Amino acid sequence: MNAQAILDYSRKLFKEYDGYRVGTFSRRSFTPETLQNTLGELAEDSSGFLHLRTIGKSFEERNLRLIKVGGGTISVLLWSQMHGDESTATMAICDILNYFKKTKSEKITGEILLSLELYFVPMLNPDGAALFLRRTAQGIDMNRDALSLATPEARLLKSIREELQPVFGFNLHDQELSTVGSTKEIAAIGLLSPSLDHEKTNNDVRTRSKYMASEFVTVMNQFIPGKITKYDDSFEPRAFGDNMQLWGTSTLLVESGHLLNDPEKNFIRKLNFVGILTTLYAIAVNVYDKFETAAYETLPFNGKRAYDVIIRNIFVEHPNGKRSPVDLGISYQVDTHSELPPKLIDIGDLHTFVGLREIDGKGKSISQSSLSLNRVFEWERYF
Ligand SMILES: [Zn+2]
Repeated sequence: MNAQAILDYSRKLFKEYDGYRVGTFSRRSFTPETLQNTLGELAEDSSGFLHLRTIGKSFEERNLRLIKVGGGTISVLLWSQMHGDESTATMAICDILNYFKKTKSEKITGEILLSLELYFVPMLNPDGAALFLRRTAQGIDMNRDALSLATPEARLLKSIREELQPVFGFNLHDQELSTVGSTKEIAAIGLLSPSLDHEKTNNDVRTRSKYMASEFVTVMNQFIPGKITKYDDSFEPRAFGDNMQLWGTSTLLVESGHLLNDPEKNFIRKLNFVGILTTLYAIAVNVYDKFETAAYETLPFNGKRAYDVIIRNIFVEHPNGKRSPVDLGISYQVDTHSELPPKLIDIGDLHTFVGLREIDGKGKSISQSSLSLNRVFEWERYF
């Protein structure tokens, strides 16, 4: 078995993805009930192949579920949506479970499930997800709660790790709109092998996660070349990824980014499906460390040269009657999450920036009094 076999498998998955895609999510802002129903359906007629267990409740008493598949000796834990509005990987997890179910008699699936014991916790923050908000019902960012454990969701994640002692982990998120370094290319996938300390020291645990990242990048380069970034690798002592590595689980952070014309992130969901499954296969057949870590180490970091909307080719009319040619940069995001309403972030020459949506203002004028930086800007009223 070599690295080429992993790449061949990835292309097969990419080609056949539609056959495994779960059809229950019409939008990425689906409810916890939709997920519970989907998991119930997947497990119901699987003859025990997918084992579903309730591990506890969220602050607002919603069930948190753990799904087990496979019976190997290497334990892997995958968790998603600790930020309630970051649902892309949750959908991909359902696709992966559906894939295992439909292909359980096939050779590669057999190899994966013979070698690995897989545990999935999709949607760790169902209370946030119910409102499609980042934080938990307590108003806490649970990815800054790995040490203080003030939230039941964080306590459950930590206790599951202690119970299962996974060798490998996948920490699955959606990232803010970013570019590839300082280019105008929008980042579709961001990856991170979280740091163990401020000095970014390596040990065996972290090196293994760098191999996972390198495998993931190499696979993704076939489908989205030049659209993959490295996430900020500063040590965050309160975050789960960093602590999972410290606790001994080699953890890969996968951040679903953005693509033009993919507002519901269907294509990025597919990339998650392919990337996660191929990494699992590479671990199962023990070739994951055949991918040079340079593939990950040399990735450009996320850059900040993108806006949700850029309106180009307009004029600002000043009170003294003069006019200025400008572009407008508008953002729907605060920190790492999307939030309405849109805000005006920049006015001026934005030709070095890219918009997820680019609007041609066709030389139209707008009065200066309508434009306040960092304030709500209902741009659709004007353009
Ligand atoms: Zn997140």
